[in-house]
Amino acid sequence: MAKVLILGGGFGGVVAAERLAEQLGDEHQITLVSRSRQFVFYPALVRLAFGKCRPADVSFDLRQSMLNRKVNFIEAEVAHIDPFDRIVTIAHGEIAGKLGYDYLIFALGRRLATERIPGFYEHAHHLLSVDKAIKFGKAIHRLYEGRAVFGQCRDARLPVPVYESAFAMARSLEENGKRDSVAITVVSPTTLESELGDIAAAAALKKAFDAHRIRFLPNLNIESLTEQSAITTSGDIVGFDLLMLVPPFRGSSAASYVGITDDNGYINVDATMRVVGHERIYAVGDCVNLDGPKMGHMAVRQAEVAAMNLAAEIDGKEPSSRYQHELRFVIAGLGNDALYLHKDLWSDEPATVRQGRFWNWAKRVQKKYWEVSHS
Ligand SMILES: Cc1cc2nc3c(=O)[nH]c(=O)nc-3n(C[C@H](O)[C@H](O)[C@H](O)COP(=O)(O)OP(=O)(O)OC[C@H]3O[C@@H](n4cnc5c(N)ncnc54)[C@H](O)[C@@H]3O)c2cc1C
Repeated sequence: MAKVLILGGGFGGVVAAERLAEQLGDEHQITLVSRSRQFVFYPALVRLAFGKCRPADVSFDLRQSMLNRKVNFIEAEVAHIDPFDRIVTIAHGEIAGKLGYDYLIFALGRRLATERIPGFYEHAHHLLSVDKAIKFGKAIHRLYEGRAVFGQCRDARLPVPVYESAFAMARSLEENGKRDSVAITVVSPTTLESELGDIAAAAALKKAFDAHRIRFLPNLNIESLTEQSAITTSGDIVGFDLLMLVPPFRGSSAASYVGITDDNGYINVDATMRVVGHERIYAVGDCVNLDGPKMGHMAVRQAEVAAMNLAAEIDGKEPSSRYQHELRFVIAGLGNDALYLHKDLWSDEPATVRQGRFWNWAKRVQKKYWEVSHS
């Protein structure tokens, strides 16, 4: 019998648990540990902030869905992993203390390094949790005139909700007849070409910004915030009355100090999703050291690869399934202009870019499909 421990109840952890439950016999024990029993469908948080759905629509109960798949669920806070002695330290929750394992999948996501931007906590909104999205939503409703700014800090690695929020704001103001009273700006630490990795996609997005009278400011590296100003490393000041900013990302602190991460705390993995230099440990999702934006569909694919390889290892075989790093997303909320992009990040091939109302619908269907197949 093998004891398999999965850390994290997000896209990566849930899919890894489901795939392992399908592939491993009943003699093996699978346990998933996460700090909350709620799974959150993050891509829907922009819709939540703009009042297009309710909190109950963006989450479901993990304990029940894991129980249905014969996976043990423990609601607890992971403090640290020890890959040498194969022990995980649980800080508090339904259990506390040491938990041993034979095989581990690390899927604790990324840490928000808000401390790197002085003034962030006091002056910026973000929408990287249900509570923060609701708070941001309340601030949106209070803004009838002035300057709304949306952006990413350096190392944020999540452009899609920034664009979607700016478009949603423009549409909401248009519907209320207030569009002329609010200036909308999107700021980026780089350029659209490097954020999207493709010239054609950047041109399509720029055109959509122009059509919705959204100003785009590239190469602004926000360093600190005051009540109504974002100050950049080169001393530029961007004034705002409402600011939604994605803070810098770092790897999960639970993997620190054991020699398995890069300088930003992301776990070093190979294409089998195994942690470099260690047998029996895999890492998937936002916590790994792969280039480019951090996306849910990547976490899902990485979890499938890791589960297949872990099951092979238990069977005494070498891991042979390999992950291919692809970027795939829909920028919804642009009406007829919704944008779909697909790019292989490990090749120089240009991206596939599609536009049209269909992609708004496709994104909503994807959410429904996720709910039906995983809850
Ligand atoms: C607003 C928004 C919009 C997005 N839009 C898209 C999109 O359109 N398309 C797309 O593909 N991706 C999108 N993403 C990105 C996507 O949600 C993430 O890439 C994805 O959630 C990563 O999955 P993960 O399993 O690695 O991490 P997460 O989903 O972050 O899951 C990590 C889990 O670990 C738990 N956890 C963390 N630390 C601990 C600890 N110490 N102890 C116990 N439990 C812990 C967390 O509670 C969580 O359950 C969006 C994200 C946001 C925030």
